[in-house]
Amino acid sequence: MFYDSDKNIRKYGIYAILVIMLLYLLYPICAFPIHEQARAARLNNDNYIKWVDFRVPYEVIRKAYEYDAIHHKSKYIKFDFVKALAYLATKNGNRFNATKDLNELNKLLEMIKKGKNIDDFYGQNKYYQYYVEAYQAIFAEFIGEYVEEGSNEIKYGLKNYHPIPRGFWYSHYDDFGASRSYGYKRRHLGHDLMGSIGTPIIAIEGGTIAEIGWNKYGGWRIGIRSFDKKRSYYYAHMRKDRPYVQGLKKGDKVYAGQVIGYLGVTGYSNKENTNMGTKPHLHLGMQLIFNEEQVQGPKEIWIDMYQICKFLSHNRADVIKDKNDYRSVGLKKSL
Ligand SMILES: [Zn+2]
Repeated sequence: MFYDSDKNIRKYGIYAILVIMLLYLLYPICAFPIHEQARAARLNNDNYIKWVDFRVPYEVIRKAYEYDAIHHKSKYIKFDFVKALAYLATKNGNRFNATKDLNELNKLLEMIKKGKNIDDFYGQNKYYQYYVEAYQAIFAEFIGEYVEEGSNEIKYGLKNYHPIPRGFWYSHYDDFGASRSYGYKRRHLGHDLMGSIGTPIIAIEGGTIAEIGWNKYGGWRIGIRSFDKKRSYYYAHMRKDRPYVQGLKKGDKVYAGQVIGYLGVTGYSNKENTNMGTKPHLHLGMQLIFNEEQVQGPKEIWIDMYQICKFLSHNRADVIKDKNDYRSVGLKKSL
């Protein structure tokens, strides 16, 4: 009898060990969304955001923007673009699905039309607050009031620009995070837009030139910090011999839509003005800065700009050739 129960203990013991091992193996998969939210939760222990993983599909960004713009003048319907995206991210745990989330967005609009306020749903939720702050840091200057050059009419809409002007070809795909190696293995923390050498490059948003000149990875590059200091845009691999529009220097202010330089293929060399052996392309980066210690080094936060570039393609600058440089015409001016 004792012998029998001993055998049972051994048998169930082995099952128990197998189940524990299985749970241990599955844990990283099952707990992934929790891990991600935990990163967000650090916001509570410290007072600034440490990490942002931007995953909103273009279709969702575009639709939320349209609802915001359509109801902009309404006294009763307040549809905030950034808060709508934060609402979805909180609801889906940052696992976006264009079809599902467009549906959720429509439902949200219906509820707001019935008198709900967007903060009524998750207003007190710490993840919602995190997403609002993160998306606000990305989109602060994208949408707002502006006037077009030569007009007094105040309009509301997308006012940041696509980096490639109207009439110039480019192609792209989502290459954020792809592995690259030069010197040491590193991930691709930007977005590449293939194009022709000499294509004018447009400042997506206004800001101050924080860096300009040669960098052994980016080649001829330019870094522009937004006026609110929350974002930094990085444009790299610019044209050999004449990368920038004449006269640009560190500390200069540029405005959204301004031509800043030309597409090229420089970089990956300690020797200045060297071309790489790849196809000409603009490397574009967007960095978020919640604290100055995130400006440079291991704490940098770069986000995937692929979906954002698709969104920006609805606002491309017109350029004309003017002596040695291109310049933009008919730009929107922020109010
Ligand atoms: Zn790149």
